[in-house]
Amino acid sequence: MQSESSPARPWRLTRWAVWALPPRVVTPILLVELTALGLFALDASQGSFTQSALFSTLILCVLGVVHTEIAVGLERLRRQVADTPHGDLSSVWTFAGAVLLPPALATVVVVVIFTHQWFRVWRSIQVPVYRHTFSTATVVLACHAASAVLNYAGDGRPPDFGSAKELLVVTLAILAYATVNTGLVAAAIALSAAPPKPSPAQLIGHWDDNMLELATLCLGALAALTLGTKPWLVVLVMAPLLVLHRAVLVRQLEEVASTDSKTGLLNAAAWHTRAAKELRRAQRGRNTAAVLIMDLDHFKSVNDDHGHLAGDEVLSAVAAAVRGEVREHDLVGRFGGEEFVVLLPELGRELNGNGELHAIAERIRHRISTLSVAVSTPNGSLSIAGLSVSVGGATFPEHGNGLEPVLEAADSALYAAKRDGRNAVRIAEFSQVPRPRSPGRR
Ligand code: GH3
Ligand code: MG
Ligand code: MG
Repeated sequence: MQSESSPARPWRLTRWAVWALPPRVVTPILLVELTALGLFALDASQGSFTQSALFSTLILCVLGVVHTEIAVGLERLRRQVADTPHGDLSSVWTFAGAVLLPPALATVVVVVIFTHQWFRVWRSIQVPVYRHTFSTATVVLACHAASAVLNYAGDGRPPDFGSAKELLVVTLAILAYATVNTGLVAAAIALSAAPPKPSPAQLIGHWDDNMLELATLCLGALAALTLGTKPWLVVLVMAPLLVLHRAVLVRQLEEVASTDSKTGLLNAAAWHTRAAKELRRAQRGRNTAAVLIMDLDHFKSVNDDHGHLAGDEVLSAVAAAVRGEVREHDLVGRFGGEEFVVLLPELGRELNGNGELHAIAERIRHRISTLSVAVSTPNGSLSIAGLSVSVGGATFPEHGNGLEPVLEAADSALYAAKRDGRNAVRIAEFSQVPRPRSPGRR
């Protein structure tokens, strides 16, 4: 928990970075860490351990350390590109410890693997120590939850998967481990996040992250079974684990490659690819869809008055506002500069002469006109308000039988909105023949 600015002096308690957090965050973090420590002290005071338990502890620590060493490059890159605390593949070893070992030894496995990870992965990407300590504590508590399920629902012995009941008990232990771990991490994110409120996916991870966690825990259960019966075979868990690790990295890199880093929206290329796919789907299902193109009015003056960094903060706030006004499955992208684009699939057959699309565009325009963005400038903090946006819309299949003609129709409508004085919404006329887009735009 030392200060990032003085990593070489962890004994300077008062300079630990954790104290810079607000009390509503520090208190629960310390509570979780003290609970983990207290449980470990209690477990350790109660137990004498068999030789085979000590041997399994050693094997799991060694495998965890070897796994980190083999995958160190993968993991550093993965953690750099993905801003998610979810999906830790070392839970193969920590969950195996929870299944096979008394809680005190399972805790030892967690602490050894996480301490080694700190030196090899997290420290180099400058994650504050308090965050890693908190993650370690949540995994210790997750192991205790799994262990409690195995004790109370099972018969106290490590399961050998010899019956359907044992399979059920291990499945419950997997769910208990995942729930406690994800729940505590989600609570910490919810408490520490700056506005706007984090999305459910940011709190508990994406569907893929959770599937990865469950797959990892299943491998952990198999590792425990193997270690309890044929210890040498546990090494075979390593190969599928490394393949899983690589697959996760590839998915995360794909995500980064399709995201606009300034706003978190889809970038232009990714938006085009996905929008074209959605329109093909709409075509097959004889559905309608619509496109909105938005361009902030006189945005250059925001940069001129407050600087580019403040301009960037405004772009990010506008992106969040647009995202907040459309449905989860609508595709929102940044086309470049201060232009945004939305594809609204399955808008319904009853577009009422574009009335529904007009209402959505009007809602976005109004939301942006009420935005007040807090920015920091060289002259101090201030709020930028009085923003406005011009919006052009067009629908599929009315304005074209593919993405390009619909985009061109929406673009022409946007120009009409600009021509008519800005801060306005225009939807393409049904009879409108799109004019070619001028060079220089996108
Ligand atoms: P109009 O109402 O005609 O759209 O006027 P405008 O000033 O918004 O349009 P113009 O195309 O003249 O200027 C767009 C400005 O957007 C110019 C450029 O500095 C700014 N811009 C483009 N990309 C970024 C960016 O990533 N960050 C910031 N801060 N500004 C950007
Ligand atoms: Mg523009
Ligand atoms: Mg503009």
